[in-house]
Amino acid sequence: MYRTHNCGVLNLSNRGEKVILSGWVHKSRDLGGMTFIDLRDRYGKTQLVFNMETNPELCSKARKLGREYVIRAEGMVVERSNKNPNMPTGDIEIIVESLDVLNKSQLPPFTIEDDTDGGDELRMKYRYLDLRREPVKHNIIHRHRVAQETRKYLDSQGFIEIETPVLIKSTPEGARDFVVPSRVHPGSFYALPQSPQIFKQLLMISGFDKYFQIVRCFRDEDLRADRQPEFTQIDCEMSFVERDDVLDAFEGLAVYLFKAIKNYDIKESFPRITYDQAVSEYGTDKPDIRFGMKIGDITGKVKGSGFNVFDNSEYTGGIVATGCAAYSRKDLDGMTDFVKRPQIGAGGLVYVKYNEDGSFKSSVDKFFSPEDLKGLTDLMDARPGDLILILSGERTQTLYALSELRLEMGDRLGLRDKEQFKPLWIVDFPLLEWDDETQRYYAMHHPFTSPKTEDLHMLESDPGKVRANSYDLVINGVEIGGGSIRIHDAEIQKKMLRVLGFTDEEANSQFGFLMNAFRYGAPPHGGIAFGFDRWVALFAGSETIRDFIAFPKNNAGRDVMIDSPSKISDDQLNELNLQLIRKGI
Ligand code: ASP
Repeated sequence: MYRTHNCGVLNLSNRGEKVILSGWVHKSRDLGGMTFIDLRDRYGKTQLVFNMETNPELCSKARKLGREYVIRAEGMVVERSNKNPNMPTGDIEIIVESLDVLNKSQLPPFTIEDDTDGGDELRMKYRYLDLRREPVKHNIIHRHRVAQETRKYLDSQGFIEIETPVLIKSTPEGARDFVVPSRVHPGSFYALPQSPQIFKQLLMISGFDKYFQIVRCFRDEDLRADRQPEFTQIDCEMSFVERDDVLDAFEGLAVYLFKAIKNYDIKESFPRITYDQAVSEYGTDKPDIRFGMKIGDITGKVKGSGFNVFDNSEYTGGIVATGCAAYSRKDLDGMTDFVKRPQIGAGGLVYVKYNEDGSFKSSVDKFFSPEDLKGLTDLMDARPGDLILILSGERTQTLYALSELRLEMGDRLGLRDKEQFKPLWIVDFPLLEWDDETQRYYAMHHPFTSPKTEDLHMLESDPGKVRANSYDLVINGVEIGGGSIRIHDAEIQKKMLRVLGFTDEEANSQFGFLMNAFRYGAPPHGGIAFGFDRWVALFAGSETIRDFIAFPKNNAGRDVMIDSPSKISDDQLNELNLQLIRKGI
């Protein structure tokens, strides 16, 4: 028998019991005649004691144990004289009577401690050792809990978990596909799913009514920090629903998870605002609404003053930083540098200080009288003591820069409380996005998203104006999920594909099966998918999804532990009827 108990459970109520424990040597200390070992397993740590006087042979054996050796120890639970209130097992220790080494360990390349000396790359290479560290282990168990609670809730609501295939055909979610060559069908390839989108729609046509799956998705995108080429979604679909039915159902899931995972109550229903409103008030379709500081459009108010920048810009907007009128020159220079960073891209920053005494000081005093500035501050709802920060330029770009500035000010003013969660729904996204480079429209969500019924008539005449019946769930400025009511009519689907530049032949060869399926009684349906990794990270107060994935890829998309992607042998290439033609690979 390897163990009667685990290393996290014993306490004073076990005093006097003979127990067997197995685990890893976390740490050992020799103190004169005594040797102490912290034995660790998934459940915790227990102190083992060896006494040189009473059992010299065993104590010498214990002194030879290295870090991370796997051992089995048998002994008696006794009360500790030196209690450790920070450990659940801190009131007791085990006087060891027999000891077996189950396996030795080389010296680990970094310390298995909460604060380790190992750098990122090294810990990725030895991820199985990193996973032994308490905080990392904790993240993985936290992930498990979110998955279990998700299943529990969706099951309670009548959703059925159905697996969909991984070797499929291209699914248009806007990224590149990962492809897998077929050996049996030389020259043909499977694609890995960017999402189970088409299958979940087919399941609605099959009549399953409510589907979900916690599912791996694969997208070959250019790597950005904290993007994983494979990630997990909570993927859902429902039949006979309108938009608000879907939002209500998944608001329920979100409220449930916040309570179950974080014991956090969300009492108010989530605000639902349109994409246009989100962009004009927050500069982004992912607003952080933990704080106000909405963007004000002052284009009309400031044009014609003789100040070139305002006069010639498509858009001028500003935010009010409450109580910041006393900002120093240095503070303002810092803000200017912030907005001028290449990734933010503003040309400069204009400020108006509304001083406590009611006077004004601004960087555009030459062009605006105090009365003008009073009008401006009134429009922006600013009070004495506030600072107005203004950006000007092309509308989309300026709104983006203002959204970043707003977040920065939110951080500076401590308005983005990590303990607070403010979800909201963004609805009515544009259906299509125009791409100048390829001179064509792309689906903003995906090609199966239904246009809003009232905009349907413009689908061919003015496609850029059509709004989608789509929605995103955003929490604290992070997009957690998105979905839409789908097209369920073969003719509309055909039209949509045409607008996206597919010829009828292309549409048929890629999505013929779906349009065919629509001809056999497709119910109205809609759904949503949540970024599971991101949600798990958010619940844990982190922005790094990598920390919540057992075996993640690094920022270059590599698994440095198993060394993947890697070359394959000539034999494998031959079997697959493939030849590498590019030199040097
Ligand atoms: N398939 C979509 C996505 O992966 C989600 C959805 O429309 O349900 O973003």
